[in-house]
Amino acid sequence: MIRPLAAVTTAAIAGWVGPTLLRGRVLRVAVCPGLAGLGRPGHLALTFDDGPDPDGTPAVLEALERLGVTATFFMLGAQVQRYPHVAAAVVAAGHEAAVHGFTHRNHLVRGPVDVCRDVTRAASVVAAATGTRPDWFRPPYGVLTSASLVAARCAGLRPVLWTAWGRDWQDRSPAQVAAVVRSQLTPGGTVLLHDSDCTTPVAGSWRATVAALPLLVELADQLGCQLGPLREHLQRVEGSGR
Ligand SMILES: [Zn+2]
Repeated sequence: MIRPLAAVTTAAIAGWVGPTLLRGRVLRVAVCPGLAGLGRPGHLALTFDDGPDPDGTPAVLEALERLGVTATFFMLGAQVQRYPHVAAAVVAAGHEAAVHGFTHRNHLVRGPVDVCRDVTRAASVVAAATGTRPDWFRPPYGVLTSASLVAARCAGLRPVLWTAWGRDWQDRSPAQVAAVVRSQLTPGGTVLLHDSDCTTPVAGSWRATVAALPLLVELADQLGCQLGPLREHLQRVEGSGR
């Protein structure tokens, strides 16, 4: 028999940890396709995390301009505070600003109030620097807890993870980055890359990312898909008025 207190505690823990089970890519694509970033079949969403970065972000923007592709940038509030002009340049170039939190800390080790403050603060910093209201939220490490979900809702953001990543925070060649994406990507998917090395010990990891971008455009062509930002891929938060 489960005692009432134990039952409540178990339910609380299940509620807290449950959504993190969706961290498994295959499971979340099957269970929550929208949350995983599965959108229009003829489209692929291109997303970058951990910026803005004074070196990586301009290099990514330049490559995207050459390729004629726009993307969504999940920004860290702390990085936006340090480099507001870089955050502004992302939106000025026609890309979409989104929220990755203020600090890059796992939500599992933070309390719900702390998580809520972090996400709300990040959304406000991103909005102030870019002059646009962000629509999307992706938690650090893709660890989505119940607190992350509540925080996103409070900040008017829709959580989105990814269906394919390039593991570009590791020491990889551009061909390796593209190969990892290719092994996971299907039409309608969302690609996760990084325009900053601020969360990895691999200095300049974004160089491989930049060099992999033409390969990813080729991959999108082979899949018969157009690459673009999340705003062209998924429905936005209901009631956002946009
Ligand atoms: Zn990150």
